[in-house]
Amino acid sequence: MLELIESLQEIKKDIELLSGQTLSDCYQCGECTAGCPTAFAMEPVPSQAIRLLQLGKFNEVLNSTGIWLCASCNVCGERCPRGVDYGKIADALRTIVLRNKLTHLTLEKIDKQFISDAPQQAFIAAFRKYTT
Ligand code: SF4
Ligand code: SF4
Repeated sequence: MLELIESLQEIKKDIELLSGQTLSDCYQCGECTAGCPTAFAMEPVPSQAIRLLQLGKFNEVLNSTGIWLCASCNVCGERCPRGVDYGKIADALRTIVLRNKLTHLTLEKIDKQFISDAPQQAFIAAFRKYTT
């Protein structure tokens, strides 16, 4: 479980500042989730994550796997009738986790066979995105 250095009030401010998005703009139509290519594996899905953030349940979202599965493809942002870009919010959430000195990925936890099969570029990209 993520233990945050920042206070909950600071987190909301940080999410909006880092993402450039206003959480209250979302009116829960679900268009983002309907178009998201990785929503099938996300928990919570984009629209649910935003609702949880609106309700101040930051820890639930920051501790979820969903924010790490976002591929930053921007489909959600293009589909949103309110101009909310969840990809940028997920990016901000990952940044907050990493800034709190919690890396998401450690080499020791990765399956050795997977390491030998995966392309080198995948590792460089993953370690840039998932570690401090
Ligand atoms: S598409 Fe926009 S308004 Fe609709 S649920 Fe997603 S973020 Fe909210
Ligand atoms: S940017 Fe992330 S959340 Fe948005 S549609 Fe793409 S993968 Fe899904």
